[in-house]
Amino acid sequence: MSTQRSSATPVAENAFDIAQKQFDIAADLLHLDANLRDVLRNCKRELTVNFPVKMDDGSIRVFQGYRVHHNIARGPAKGGLRFHPAVTLDEVRALAMWMTWKCAVVGIPFGGAKGGVVCDPKKLSLTELENLTRRFATEISLLIGPDRDIPAPDVNTSPLVMSWIMDTYSMAVGHSVPAVVTGKPLSIGGSEGRLEATARGAVDVIIEAARDRQFPLDGARVILQGFGNAGAPLASFLSQLGCRVIGVSDSSGAIHNPHGIDCARLRLYQRETGTVAGFSMAEPVDPLGMLELPCDILVPAALEGQITHRNADRIKAKMIAEVANGPTTPEADVILGEKGVLVLPDILCNAGGVTVSYFEWVQDLQSFFWDEEEVNARLQRIMVRAYQNVARMAEQHNVNLRTAAHMLAISLVADATRTRGIFP
Ligand code: GLU
Repeated sequence: MSTQRSSATPVAENAFDIAQKQFDIAADLLHLDANLRDVLRNCKRELTVNFPVKMDDGSIRVFQGYRVHHNIARGPAKGGLRFHPAVTLDEVRALAMWMTWKCAVVGIPFGGAKGGVVCDPKKLSLTELENLTRRFATEISLLIGPDRDIPAPDVNTSPLVMSWIMDTYSMAVGHSVPAVVTGKPLSIGGSEGRLEATARGAVDVIIEAARDRQFPLDGARVILQGFGNAGAPLASFLSQLGCRVIGVSDSSGAIHNPHGIDCARLRLYQRETGTVAGFSMAEPVDPLGMLELPCDILVPAALEGQITHRNADRIKAKMIAEVANGPTTPEADVILGEKGVLVLPDILCNAGGVTVSYFEWVQDLQSFFWDEEEVNARLQRIMVRAYQNVARMAEQHNVNLRTAAHMLAISLVADATRTRGIFP
């Protein structure tokens, strides 16, 4: 186990180059006007902040963070906030652009944003994490607000982190503003169903795609990279559908059992130990090699840049459900397409999270809260409709689902931009 690499080691490719390449492929097919293309392939606003944080030992450390708005033609900027040592401005730019397309694919009235702080939250105490979050929230208060930019959880951020942001913002303005962030705890205006929303939305898309292609889910073998906010609940939902989860990894290691892994027990084990590595009812495997093991559905649910030209031809899955943002490079897409692997693209497959964030924001603004049944039913309607729209587009233009999703999203955002006109 000691020689294992991280299960989600980002590869050298630049995420923003990848996001722009994906954009160009769709923009070419749409014959998008050259002027509009320039507007949409770049980010509107980029804020970099360097800020001091008081550490437990009395020292002061300076951290760097970013908040980027890609496009706000369709509504306020929306997108998560990640705490990770590998965060870069280009990564945040890419993630912000993907948020713009994601919100358009599911038809919710938001633009795209993302934020990140370069830090390893696992090496911070709870007090240090709170100090960092509150100071970062203050630094980006130039941009955030319930009608301007609404952050949410992403890699290594949680409802607790969101509650500190909500409190910090509310303290500054002198009254409670729950709608300034989503993914909050229920007690301060969070929504029922938000915790599992990304996983639930992914399952809605997987079921629709499987039905379309007569792909049996009962007994399907699943390999899951990432066992966090999205990956862990997804494992439970897929098990309930009769799938057999045979491989799981997180940032500390990977495990494999061809007979199936009891995901409920694995979650308990992970809660106790902080990792899936060392789970006794499975064998340790190399985390990157795990992606290439025989399976039916591969679910990248960690970081971007995991499936590339280096490993795509060795992938054995028939379906890839992208729960992570940006896990597959354009070169890998070509290889997977030639192999006949069905890729459910991130901006469709993981859009359940931001969809229920939208519900949370609407509930906060109205101070009127829905029960979980209503949240899940509305989520399912949106995810199924989005899948059908993307599948129809793919068929009409004879393109893969990623390009179809981008074409759909880009035409909606382009239309909004055209309709509003260029100021002044
Ligand atoms: N971080 C999630 C995503 O990448 C959720 C964003 C949100 O809810 O605003 O889609």
